[in-house]
Amino acid sequence: MDLELKGKVAIVTGGSKGIGLGIVGRLLAEGAHVVNVNRSEAEGLQLEREAAAAGQQCLFVQGDLSDTTSCHRAVEKTLQAFGRIDILVNNAGVNDGVGLDAGVDAFLDSLRRNLIHYYAMAHYALNALKKSRGVIINIGSKVCETGQGGTSGYAASKGGINGLTREWAVDLAPHGVRVNAVLPAETWTPLYEKCLAAMPDPAGAKAHLEELIPLGRRFTTIEELADMAVFLASPRSSHTTGQIIFVDGGYTHLDRKCTVRDVSTFGAAANS
Ligand code: NAP
Repeated sequence: MDLELKGKVAIVTGGSKGIGLGIVGRLLAEGAHVVNVNRSEAEGLQLEREAAAAGQQCLFVQGDLSDTTSCHRAVEKTLQAFGRIDILVNNAGVNDGVGLDAGVDAFLDSLRRNLIHYYAMAHYALNALKKSRGVIINIGSKVCETGQGGTSGYAASKGGINGLTREWAVDLAPHGVRVNAVLPAETWTPLYEKCLAAMPDPAGAKAHLEELIPLGRRFTTIEELADMAVFLASPRSSHTTGQIIFVDGGYTHLDRKCTVRDVSTFGAAANS
């Protein structure tokens, strides 16, 4: 299927690593021009060089998104370089473990790391997106529905992202701008690997998590997440807006009985 993304201009926040990098790779492969907003200059410039070597354009804009002036600068640089914005992928975020006991200042800082820049990017890109009848993809998290404990700032941010996805879909429908959210639960990224590596039994911890994922008893891959995001960003999903889509192997919503290994002992499968 031709996703009709050739020549489109996309901004991806946090595009140097993990899910963001997967989305950048897919967009470039489809012929889009990408602007990657990230903190590390070394990583961003390396990606820019690798893309250029493959005949692709992946402009790096350095900045910490928790400072909204970086968001403004990223949009301005995109418009200077390409003159248009067709796709905004709000992806950067971190589960920073700011719990109820952390205090109001820490909570506000967590919102700055996880939520405020989603609004800021959309706000600064608004006129360009209206002009192009563009698309916004927000990357969320299952934590907004399940909770996790000890992470109020992240949970509030991800809940806010779902709310903003619906709100912006309504707001921008008259302008032909579509807005959708893609929610991971357990996606295997370098960061996830690093987190588990800090545990006493990383392989055991990974195996335990995998047991809880009904479809395939495995983590979602970065590519599976990126494929959904890029499809939703493409004109091929031209009548889909305001949707909150879980790419999680059924982890968040399927019957809890599915989280045990021998599903055949439960429900209809047991009677067949
Ligand atoms: P990741 O591997 O840590 O990649 C995130 C990227 O975003 C990194 O390049 C990071 O840069 C960048 N970034 C983060 N905060 C930034 C900031 N304030 N300014 C500029 N760049 C920033 O994370 P990931 O697992 O791919 O997560 C991507 C999104 O998916 C996040 O919104 C996350 O909440 C969501 N998510 C992931 C999972 C999962 O299982 N992986 C589950 C649920 C939700 P640095 O290297 O400088 O930090």
